[in-house]
Amino acid sequence: MSIVYRYPCPRCSRVTNLSDGAVCLTPTKDGGVCGYEFPVELLEFNGYVREKIEKHSQQPTGVFRGEISFNTSTGFYLQNLSGARAAGDIYLDVKNGYFCTYITPSGNSAIATLWSGSATNQFAVSGYKLPLNSKLQNIHGHYENLGPSMLFVAAPIDVVVEYPTLANPDEFRVLQSGNVIAAWNTAALSGFAGSHIVIK
Ligand SMILES: [Zn+2]
Repeated sequence: MSIVYRYPCPRCSRVTNLSDGAVCLTPTKDGGVCGYEFPVELLEFNGYVREKIEKHSQQPTGVFRGEISFNTSTGFYLQNLSGARAAGDIYLDVKNGYFCTYITPSGNSAIATLWSGSATNQFAVSGYKLPLNSKLQNIHGHYENLGPSMLFVAAPIDVVVEYPTLANPDEFRVLQSGNVIAAWNTAALSGFAGSHIVIK
């Protein structure tokens, strides 16, 4: 079980088919291959994602706008990121308008805390959600429970997630066994998932 990401490669810029633990096979002029692979260790991520990782592995202080979810272990966060990237279940988040993968590494048990606005307003969460609507090198997740806006699309079996292309601009797609089973257009803010028709 693993998910293939058909996204532009951060190193060679060509559309590649990348999965966890594999490398970009785009040929180079000297007869080799590009060789890009997903970052795993903290220092392999870019500064933008490292900041996000820090945010989700440190307790927020004071009063803040919005929500922050965190588990105090950077190692656990990185393990969750890799796990969700490799083989999470695919969902369409209809509220936020993107595909994501989702894992619950400890079943129903809490793995993190969600703070909404301040430390006095906190909730236990059991899942890790990885939105897929960014460039490959910027993909990162956060802790969240499964809400009603999350539509199940597919288990990670023979699944390809496709970044928008020239042929399908603004449209993320999910293919399973070669068939398009879901799509979301980020400009029209509409799409479909399986037998569900979703119009936002
Ligand atoms: Zn490449």
